[in-house]
Amino acid sequence: MAADSDSADPAGRCRLCTKAGAELFCRDGRRHYYRCKQCLLVFVPPMQLLSAVAEKAEYDLHQNDPDDPGYRRFLGRLFEPLQARLPPSSHGLDFGCGPASALPVMLAEAGHSVALYDRFYAPDRAVLQRRYDFITATEVVEHLHRPGAELRQLWALLRPGGVLALMTKLVVDGEAFARWHYKNDPTHVVFFSRETFAWLAAEWRAELEIIGQDVILLTRQS
Ligand SMILES: [Zn+2]
Repeated sequence: MAADSDSADPAGRCRLCTKAGAELFCRDGRRHYYRCKQCLLVFVPPMQLLSAVAEKAEYDLHQNDPDDPGYRRFLGRLFEPLQARLPPSSHGLDFGCGPASALPVMLAEAGHSVALYDRFYAPDRAVLQRRYDFITATEVVEHLHRPGAELRQLWALLRPGGVLALMTKLVVDGEAFARWHYKNDPTHVVFFSRETFAWLAAEWRAELEIIGQDVILLTRQS
């Protein structure tokens, strides 16, 4: 069992805001899901997180083809609003790019330069020392074991006016959650809602825009 969990508080502290005392939100045949009372993040307890080896084995099974037009259309939901907000020739980072993401290609085609980071497939931590005009993370944040620390680290890499562009499916309510296929992926361990991003934006004094069902833009004050 991980050090941040004990029998009195099986969920451990909230992985986003660190508040203790999360309440059981849902359980299924495999896992428990707790919800933080402060930021409303839904998360699985530390003892139910996959090891890094088991996690990578899951990712190796599910790869997107970067040339698939359906995949590019899916990424377009984030690319188009982001591109509309970026000055020409911006410099960005694609965090959690996987082995072959189409998004950096789409951004490069639009005249931007994009560094890549992925803890399994592009583990060059030097790129996490630079400053960026934008950072993208598509279908990434739901996998983070320590989303508070990791999102804070990304936020600190943005220049004033910079944009953190995320794509993740959002929690609606307990009833929908119980039926949600998204929670059944064993690598999905934290689940955000509109309220969670509102909490984060207030914490960071960021401008928040939620576009459609799953695109979240957080802009750093200039
Ligand atoms: Zn929280």
